Amino acid sequence: MNWRVPLSDIDFGAEEEEAVQQVVKSRWLTMGAVTREFEEEFAAYVGARHAIAVTNATAALHLACVAGGLGAGDEAILPSLTFVATANAVRYAGAIPVFADIAGENDLNISPRSIEACITPRTRAILVVHYGGYACDMPAILSLAEEHGLVVIEDAAHAIGSELEGRMLGTWGQIGCYSFFSNKNMTTGEGGMLVTDDDELAERLRLLRSHGMTSLTWDRHKGHAWSYDVVDLGYNYRIDEIRSSLGREQLKKLPRNNRLRREKTALYRQLLAELSPEIVVPFEEHPGVSACHLLPILLPDGTPRESFMENMKAQGIQTSIHYPPIHRFSAYRDLNPPGAANLPQTESAATREVTLPLYPALSEDDIRFVAKAVQTSLAGVARALA
Ligand SMILES: *Cc1c(COP(=O)(O)O)cnc(C)c1O
Repeated sequence: MNWRVPLSDIDFGAEEEEAVQQVVKSRWLTMGAVTREFEEEFAAYVGARHAIAVTNATAALHLACVAGGLGAGDEAILPSLTFVATANAVRYAGAIPVFADIAGENDLNISPRSIEACITPRTRAILVVHYGGYACDMPAILSLAEEHGLVVIEDAAHAIGSELEGRMLGTWGQIGCYSFFSNKNMTTGEGGMLVTDDDELAERLRLLRSHGMTSLTWDRHKGHAWSYDVVDLGYNYRIDEIRSSLGREQLKKLPRNNRLRREKTALYRQLLAELSPEIVVPFEEHPGVSACHLLPILLPDGTPRESFMENMKAQGIQTSIHYPPIHRFSAYRDLNPPGAANLPQTESAATREVTLPLYPALSEDDIRFVAKAVQTSLAGVARALA
């Protein structure tokens, strides 16, 4: 499909090409000095003591659950309105995902009140997801966690560069996880990052990333080690130098690109309020600074969403849904996960949500075109219903 306005687009140029060529010429491809630099730069950017690069954010979430102490019989509370990887990670660790509801139609993030209602003697962790880059209520969530002795893991896949009270998202909980998948705010193709301020957790995460081995191939190449011990049941979740070199270039572009996303989001909000006041654009006046990863809208209750999306497609505009809620997937329904029967806000938002195109190079004309198309597509489905 040749979209006139695609859902997302990457910002790659000569810098990325040059960076990859440098790595190829260096003849060292597996995790080494470039990755170390990427980690140091990322840690400095978000203000964390440690950053550990991995092969994708799903691996990051898995390691976070393992290092966070989740195991068989433990429960972890998380939203259902997220990508399936957030819940899968809990299951990889042998633990039970417990679904809490979102706050409401203007705040699609997990609700602290719903979290509190899900806490049992088996609860060990809370996994928060900053939907679209908009901050969860971290002060309330951290105080619940403290009161009940729970670990807080942040799925900050959407929130690279988002802030709340001047502190970067991903650095509020014990461990933060970021994604560098192709449609995220910065990309390495596939890639991810863990951050933590805890020295022991960081050490454990580094071990788990690479088979639980006490030295890397890189260390042996540099003559720092001859052999190694295996001290933990680890994985091969390493990133590589090619992708880390892309990450370093993308990180330099991130602040500007996030600013552009915020400006485009503001224009969308203004135009949609003028043209289609009957739709909800969530996170209006939301606290903090968002990385504006997504532009979600909620259609009026009862609007046939597929027809609306078909109308948008007919005008060359790609839209998407974030998300089909996890508790409704076949692989989760049969588990009968705790909490799934009591998610009214999630059910409502999940049936009404449509994601509009948003990326740094999206032009003002395109935004006007999309906003106008939302208006005419809504009118089109209303006529068809009448
Ligand atoms: C993209 C995404 C992930 C998974 O990231 P990968 O790097 O593709 O593994 C996890 N959680 C959320 C909310 C995401 O959007």
